[in-house]
Amino acid sequence: MSSDDSVTDGDQPGDPAPPGEKYCAECGSIINEKAEICPECGVRQPGMGSGGDERLVTALLAILLGSFGAHKFYLGENKVGVIYLCFFWTGIPGIIGIIEGVIYLSKSDEEFRRQYLED
Ligand SMILES: [Zn+2]
Repeated sequence: MSSDDSVTDGDQPGDPAPPGEKYCAECGSIINEKAEICPECGVRQPGMGSGGDERLVTALLAILLGSFGAHKFYLGENKVGVIYLCFFWTGIPGIIGIIEGVIYLSKSDEEFRRQYLED
């Protein structure tokens, strides 16, 4: 398994793929959303193998460093992260972080990807 952890967007066409399908990261063909390997070009789709790692990392960040919004910065939600930072002294973001961490852990890798990584 040589999965590349870096999820890079930008090459993909602007239009959203039809429901249940997605664009191949390599050749741009429309393929099944759950396909790990593109049938057209045979390239493994980024993130399919590493979504679980991202989910675990985000959950750990939320539980351990949730007070500082670390998981929000990790997900690219910088504005929300700053709000967490501003209120970390109240302890509330820390509590929310733990709850969010548990939610991340309770989701499947695919659910997590769809909800938090593919915006
Ligand atoms: Zn392809």
